[in-house]
Amino acid sequence: MSSVPRGSKASSGARMLEAAGLPIRSAIEGLAWPAVPDKAGGSLLAMLWQMERSERFSQARLRSLQMVQLRTLLRHAAANVPFYADLWGGLGRERLGFDPAVDTLTPKRFSALPVVTREMIRGAGEAAFSKMVPRAHGSVQASLTAGTTGAPLHFRATGLTQLMWQAFTLRDHLWHRRDLTGKLATIRPMRGPRAETPDWGRTTSALCSTGPAVGLSMEHDIVEQASWLVEQDPHSLVTHPGNLYALAGWFSGHGVKLPLLHDIRTVSGRVAPEHRAACRAAFGRPLVDSYSTRELGYLALQCPRHERYHVQEEGVLLELLDDVGQPVPQGRPGRVVVTSLHNFAMPFVRYDTGDYAIAGAACDCGRGLAVLERIVGRGRNLMSMPDGTRRWPGCDLIHLDVVPGIRQHQFVQTALDRIELVLVADQPLSQADQESLATVVRACLGQGLEVAVVRVERLPYSADGRFDEFVNLLSH
Ligand SMILES: [Zn+2]
Repeated sequence: MSSVPRGSKASSGARMLEAAGLPIRSAIEGLAWPAVPDKAGGSLLAMLWQMERSERFSQARLRSLQMVQLRTLLRHAAANVPFYADLWGGLGRERLGFDPAVDTLTPKRFSALPVVTREMIRGAGEAAFSKMVPRAHGSVQASLTAGTTGAPLHFRATGLTQLMWQAFTLRDHLWHRRDLTGKLATIRPMRGPRAETPDWGRTTSALCSTGPAVGLSMEHDIVEQASWLVEQDPHSLVTHPGNLYALAGWFSGHGVKLPLLHDIRTVSGRVAPEHRAACRAAFGRPLVDSYSTRELGYLALQCPRHERYHVQEEGVLLELLDDVGQPVPQGRPGRVVVTSLHNFAMPFVRYDTGDYAIAGAACDCGRGLAVLERIVGRGRNLMSMPDGTRRWPGCDLIHLDVVPGIRQHQFVQTALDRIELVLVADQPLSQADQESLATVVRACLGQGLEVAVVRVERLPYSADGRFDEFVNLLSH
């Protein structure tokens, strides 16, 4: 399968934009073509032009460009951010092997810097913020992200980090050749119940005209969401993976189609193979996922040809480390540790996201950007074993279709030897149903487990709207 449509060869940025249905908006009255965009649009085009090239660079070349950018960031952090000045200064040149404030940065020196956790950053309070931000980085925005454990993190971003966010959003549209002139429907946690805007938002409107956008809060139950989608008849849909899975189940189960729906995207949460299969079965289209966090921006986008992801290495240096801070080999899950290259208001240097991912081999799509084969979830999604170790629960392999009518499920580990299987199901479950479900769960997660089956009206989402398929209550 080719990502380039017939009749078009590998193209310039402008031609790619046109191929994706993005006629560039001109800021000069009386000028329709060739368009001259406004300042924000011009900056985005400049970024896209470079990123179209850099996505094909080798890993060595990408790493050396990252080091050039990181050298500036680290000097800034050492001079202006008390948290890093204390952390690195406390270790000293002897332990670190270099002084981040003055010495030339190399990948080896970089990997000597300590990994920082969310708790360390949160504990630092104001000391994690820069005392000075270069004026050209634009206005500093303060924001808040809810953690999976419910403890919020105050973070800061700049006009520059916002520009990077927009550039990666547009890259995602271009990679997947989206028609931006259609209607976009978003179902996510929202402040109000519904939203309606004339276009897709600031990111795209800086550069081109788009279709309208509508939004619905994910708090609505699946039947309400489904009837809203039928009424809206969108071209594009964005929601969380667990929610999409439930919607796909409803549409398949009721034999209802969304005739215009072409582009289905998921954000916030782990995508499992069954989510992808259910999406194709219900809507006849593939699920396209992206991996981002509020404080770090985009970390990875799905490859246009495969279900794997490409790390957005122009924006972040992403490492996969084991529990003692060493890189994990390809194919094994590692902790996602990220350095954000452009946030000078609140630098994140070797920041442990709490997520886990598996690195993949180089991709045959021609992009040199590092590959994540899968994003496997968060630390609290690990199962605690009686011997004190923690491992990935093989939830993907559990086939709950031994009992019909199950729409959503979640596993909750409440004790070392006890799992609750929480279900949204169309009808009450008989004793025999519960026993067959417990049997398949035990076969996959452990024969000695006590399995309790609990039927609920709806599944709980975490404070920031994430849905976890496996929740370990012992890890809090
Ligand atoms: Zn690829």
